[in-house]
Amino acid sequence: MNANETTDSSTDVTVITGASRGIGAATARRLAQQLAGTDHHLVLSYVNNAEAAQHVADEVAFHGVGASIVQADVSQEADVIAIFSEADSRGRLTGLVNNAGILDTISPFVELTAERIERTWAVNITGTFLCAREAVKRMADGPTTGSIVNVSSRAASFGSPWEFIDYAASKGAVDTMTVGLATEVAGRNVRVNAVRPGLVHTDIHRSGGDAGRVDRLAERIPIGRGGQPEEVANLIAWLLSDEASYVTGALMDIGGGR
Ligand code: NAP
Repeated sequence: MNANETTDSSTDVTVITGASRGIGAATARRLAQQLAGTDHHLVLSYVNNAEAAQHVADEVAFHGVGASIVQADVSQEADVIAIFSEADSRGRLTGLVNNAGILDTISPFVELTAERIERTWAVNITGTFLCAREAVKRMADGPTTGSIVNVSSRAASFGSPWEFIDYAASKGAVDTMTVGLATEVAGRNVRVNAVRPGLVHTDIHRSGGDAGRVDRLAERIPIGRGGQPEEVANLIAWLLSDEASYVTGALMDIGGGR
């Protein structure tokens, strides 16, 4: 399970949920480059794809940064506790990338079922809230500033009509939580921000039944193309770092101008 053994309590630890693929995996790779040579451990969560998660952990370890993987459905409180127990066993939590999220298939609003709405909100809202809660418990009033980055979406502003209004609304909730929680913990040495990606080339669009969605909609993006997960990872890594020491409660759009 562990790509690199680090148990020293002076070790800084960052949790990335949904780190086996897409934006989460790109963030793990970006942080590994940035943190090479420092005493840092990444806890990488996945839900189904253990092999992909282990591959990312191996890439992180290649840079000399600790990495371990945890199987966890973030909508399940016990699974979230397991992620943070692993973090506790590795050192002191300083970062959380609250990234795990799901998208159901393209659907007009009147065909949304209660089951689908509840599942989307359980992962994207409840999961994000539970992870942030566990992070704040560990970061508040700490010796160094903790940083939480919630991965929201431009969909929170657009509403995703005719496609995924349930998903867009879940990201609206993430934005609201970001602003409220940032204010609540600003005086307790924790920063909370959100990134709001537009159309990014990852598997999530295949999950929505439209693998070519990013290219299909590229003409609506002022920059003229979809984003790469590495471009989002760069922003997340910056928000986690001390370079963003005066940034909290920010909802940062990264959508190529859209
Ligand atoms: P992705 O490629 O589909 O990867 C999703 C990741 O989340 C995988 O690591 C997956 O694990 C994990 N995951 C799925 N369900 C989970 C659950 N119930 N509990 C824990 N982990 C779970 O997605 P992505 O595009 O990188 O998206 C990452 C985040 O960015 C999401 O919050 C998404 O809403 C947001 N976002 C994406 C875009 C975009 O265009 N791609 C735009 C805006 C916002 P397994 O590999 O084990 O399945």
